[in-house]
Amino acid sequence: MGKAVRKRTSEAAAGRADPAATLRAVQSRLASLAEHGTLSAFLKRIRHRTSDAEPLSLHDDPEAARFLHRLGVISNPHARKRACGEVEGFLESASRSGGPAPAVASVLVRAYASGLYGVTPEAVCGDEPKCGDCPLSGNCREFNSPRSATLSYAPGERPSERVETEGARALSVSELMALVTAAAPAKEEAAVEACERLVKEHGGLRALSELRPADIAKTKGVSARAARAIAAAMELIRRWAEETRPTGRAFRSGRDLFEHYRLKLRDLKKEVFVAVLLDQKNRFLADEVCSEGTLTSSLVHPREVFRRAVRESAAAIAFVHNPPSGDPTPSTLDLEITERLQAVSELVGIRMLDHVIVGETTYVSFVERGLMKTET
Ligand code: SF4
Repeated sequence: MGKAVRKRTSEAAAGRADPAATLRAVQSRLASLAEHGTLSAFLKRIRHRTSDAEPLSLHDDPEAARFLHRLGVISNPHARKRACGEVEGFLESASRSGGPAPAVASVLVRAYASGLYGVTPEAVCGDEPKCGDCPLSGNCREFNSPRSATLSYAPGERPSERVETEGARALSVSELMALVTAAAPAKEEAAVEACERLVKEHGGLRALSELRPADIAKTKGVSARAARAIAAAMELIRRWAEETRPTGRAFRSGRDLFEHYRLKLRDLKKEVFVAVLLDQKNRFLADEVCSEGTLTSSLVHPREVFRRAVRESAAAIAFVHNPPSGDPTPSTLDLEITERLQAVSELVGIRMLDHVIVGETTYVSFVERGLMKTET
C-alpha cells in the first residue's frame, strides 16, 4: 500500500479560514437548499429577536461541534472550555468583520451541521458530509487532512493518474464516473465506491441514463453535485450518439451503419424505420424516420421514402430499423419490405446500399447475408 500524496491548502493547514467569509458561504449554501426565500425570511425574524441574545452553545451541541471541528475552528471538541472560547472567538470575529451577529451566526452553524426544521431540512456537514457541495472545502481541515485521505491507492494508481498514463479506456465505468464526480483527487476512492453502488443499484449505464439527478442522488455517497455531473455526462453521451455522421465519412459496410445507429435506436421504446440518404461515395447527407411504431408493410411507403431522397439529390440510400425484441433476425415482412424498396430504388435510379436491422448487441445486413441484390 502506497503513501497517498495529498495537496493541502495553506489556509487549511494554518486554520486561517476567514470567519466572516465562512459564514457568508454557509448562509449562501443554506439559502440554496431552502425553499425560495425561506431562509432569508427566517433570518429576518430571528435577527429581530436575537440582536442582543446569547449565541447557541455550539461547543455543547455534538453536531455543530463536529462541523466546527472538521472546519478547524474547534481544535478538540472534548476540551469543552477551550472549545467554548474558540467558538466565541470565531463568532465574534465574524461579527466584527461584517458578518451576522453571534446569535444569528450560531443558528446558521447549527443549520449547516444538522439542518433547520422547516427551512433547510438537509444538513450539509452532517453524518454524511456533502463535501462535493460544500463551498468550505478549500479551507476545511477535515477535507484537506491527510488523516482522512484514502490511502489504498498506490502512487500512480488513482483514476486521475491512470487516465493520464493509460488512457480513459483502461478505466472501469465506476472509475470514469468517479473522475467526473469526485470533488478532489483525495475523494476518488469514495467516489468510486459510491459509483459502483450506483451502477449496481440500477443495473448499468442504460438505466442510469433514464434517471433524473434527484433519483441519482438517492444512492448513498452520491451528492447532489455528483448526481448533476452524472446526468450531464449521460446527456453528453446521448447527444454524441445523436450527432449525424460528419460529412465526408462514408458508410462502407453494414457494421458502419450499425455502429452509427445502435445507440440512437436501441433504447427507443418503439420500432422506427430510418432512411439514410447518401452521396455518390456513400457519404452521409441526411436521415429521416420513415415510420414509427409496429412495422407493417403499409407503414413504409416507398414513394414517401424516396421523395426526400430525390429532393436531396441523393445518389444512394440505406435503411436501418430496430426490432422491438432486440433480435435482428429478418422476418418475412422485413424481406418483403426490402424487396419493394429495392424495386423502387431501381425505378428512380437511386442505388439502395443496404438494409440493416439493428439489434441489441448485433445486427443483420441484408447485403452481407446475401438477402438483397447488389451491384456487380
Ligand atoms: S468540506 Fe466536508 S467536512 Fe468540510 S465543512 Fe464542508 S461538508 Fe464538512
